[in-house]
Amino acid sequence: MTDQNIVRVEQDGDIAVIVVNNPPVNTITAAVRSGLDAALLQLATLPGIRAVLLRCEGSTFFSGADIGEFNGPPREAEYREIFGRLEALSVPVVAAMHGTVLGGGLEITLACHYRVAAPGTRFGLPEVTLGIIPGGGGTQRMPRLIGIEKTLELILGARPVDTSQALALGFLDEVIEGDLAAGALAYVRRLLAAGAGPRRTGARTVAPASAEMLARFKAQAAKQYPNRVAPLTAIEVVSAAATLPLSDGLLLEERLVNVAKRTPESRGSVHVFFAERETRKLVGLGAGPAKPIHSAGIIGAGTMGGGIAMCFANAGVPVTLVDTTSEALQRGLGVIDKNYQSMVKRGRITSEEKDRRMGLVSTALDYSALAQADVIIEAVFENMELKKKIFGTLDNAAKPGALLASNTSTLDVTEIARATRRPGDVIGTHFFSPANVMPLLELVRTELTSPAAIRTAMDLAKLLRKTPVLARVCYGFVGNRMMEGYAREAERIVLEGATPRQVDSVLEQWGMAMGILAVFDMAGVDVGVNVHTANAQRYPPDPTYYQADFALVEAGRLGQKNGKGYYRYEAGDRARHDDPEALAILQARASKLGVRRRAHSEQEILERCLYPLLNEGFRILEEGVVQRASDIDVVWTSGYGFPRYRGGPMFYAEELGLKTLLEGMNRFRKEYGAMHWEPAPLLVELVQKGLSLSAWESGRSSKS
Ligand code: NAD
Repeated sequence: MTDQNIVRVEQDGDIAVIVVNNPPVNTITAAVRSGLDAALLQLATLPGIRAVLLRCEGSTFFSGADIGEFNGPPREAEYREIFGRLEALSVPVVAAMHGTVLGGGLEITLACHYRVAAPGTRFGLPEVTLGIIPGGGGTQRMPRLIGIEKTLELILGARPVDTSQALALGFLDEVIEGDLAAGALAYVRRLLAAGAGPRRTGARTVAPASAEMLARFKAQAAKQYPNRVAPLTAIEVVSAAATLPLSDGLLLEERLVNVAKRTPESRGSVHVFFAERETRKLVGLGAGPAKPIHSAGIIGAGTMGGGIAMCFANAGVPVTLVDTTSEALQRGLGVIDKNYQSMVKRGRITSEEKDRRMGLVSTALDYSALAQADVIIEAVFENMELKKKIFGTLDNAAKPGALLASNTSTLDVTEIARATRRPGDVIGTHFFSPANVMPLLELVRTELTSPAAIRTAMDLAKLLRKTPVLARVCYGFVGNRMMEGYAREAERIVLEGATPRQVDSVLEQWGMAMGILAVFDMAGVDVGVNVHTANAQRYPPDPTYYQADFALVEAGRLGQKNGKGYYRYEAGDRARHDDPEALAILQARASKLGVRRRAHSEQEILERCLYPLLNEGFRILEEGVVQRASDIDVVWTSGYGFPRYRGGPMFYAEELGLKTLLEGMNRFRKEYGAMHWEPAPLLVELVQKGLSLSAWESGRSSKS
């Protein structure tokens, strides 16, 4: 598409309309900028123009800047220049927005003189989530429009706001009902009729922020964004809008956004941003088109079945829940109803919407109700014989070509697939709890899964708004397999004398959303014990293995569900309290096992927990369980609370230095033996050859 096609200037009487069409989401790419540049030149040649309207075609107004340019030379000067020329026009300039207007997309409108939007438009400055600050003038123009306090709330909040919030904040002038193009033109005509002239944001001044206000925002940033500098930089640059003229403020912004782009937090966050878009790309998959999904069935109306049913209902797809008893079905429906009810209470959906979604969920005791389903997801107890029996039954119950999925977390999907006469249609769909909330979906293909089934499962993920990661069958798939060594060390360290709080605090201060022992309490310590009991033969002969879990469960400490696990919990409250009783149980188990008690440095806790996790990632990659290293990063950042700003385990391993990781593994190997600390062969190879992961991956793909 040429720049002229992307940006064109139309004329409607004495109004010039700049129309942009850069599918799919009107990203402000270099071509858009050069098109805008040409459009601004063209405006000067049009006689009798009294106003300019800027709008976009397609699903949204400018969705944002081109994040792909972050790695290249700085582009802010181009943005500054074009936006500055727009602002300097001698006639009123109006932006008409729709869709999702983020970052640079919103910043260009601040350089316009008036802003209108279609109902449902969402606006935001989410740059800090990418480790940077707004770099298209947002830090200087937004405070001039709405003040420093509201600007910082918007930037630190990093979440899009809707039209009513935008009106209240004061950067939106009007909501245009009906056809936006026509309504915006009518708005411009009204402006002209009222004699309105240009209204330049840059010409306004802004009151300085008080020291108390800035201290409050800094405290908020430290709490909300630990370990990150971009939010603090944003506070500094936004507050400078009160003292610097626009041109100087824009230069300060430009300088600091370019410093921010080079920080590990920005590189990590941007890496995850692109990694999430990459997971859908299928490498070397044979032919076989995806099949449409218009209806779904779920077997098992428990915790996961209910959550997955909500995902379908949220997507507007009718779904039938099947369970063995009416009580189980009623209980399942009750939980779904309660969840929707709480969404209504929080204003997330209307009660009509709740009714509509509940109306999409039906129940049945008989598999014949699944005869028309395009996809059937099994979510019954984690028991191989039961699952095989169910898949055998589905052979007759499901229509030919239906996608047959299992939500198993640990069982061999190939064995489940072999229980049917159509193993090509079988795939693992590993949802995370709560399934209606968590974005990750591990798709587990067997050697028998057909390309069509894989593509259909990818479409399923899109339909349910999940981030899919395609994996091959192995114990624990990607996430749980990597968690094994991480959790093992955390448990071993508490047997050695550190408190659960010490271990969890180190992990949380480093950036994990929740320390692993607190996670166990939340999920149920007994759940882990059951998995370990069922799979004991898989684990190395280590008498201390997961013994902290076993000791607590034997003492009746199941976690949050009965108010005591690694911590103690008050009724109705999830706050963790240290519990001497738990410590005594752990100490007793340690002395029974002959584990030497000692003090641990924070560094040791962190390295012992993280290194096995990272190391396992290299094994997973080498075995070809995932398509690419960054898929592992997505699993951990979207499903396991690994900090996005550290880029995920594989990205972080490289930031840390593969040599450092290998040396650490070898150091712990000497201390604790080869049973758990054998470095992954791929890690050793990369260090020996001095190769990066991406160099290794491109070497591998050129060989295949
Ligand atoms: P659950 O115990 O909450 O629910 C299981 C449901 O299956 C129950 O309602 C039960 O009545 C029903 N059921 C049992 N046999 C059945 C049959 N023959 N036909 C129809 N329904 C039957 O279990 P859950 O936590 O929802 O787990 C379900 C699956 O999801 C398991 O394979 C589990 O490993 C996996 N999983 C669980 C989680 C989690 O956090 N709970 C996370 C990921 C995956």
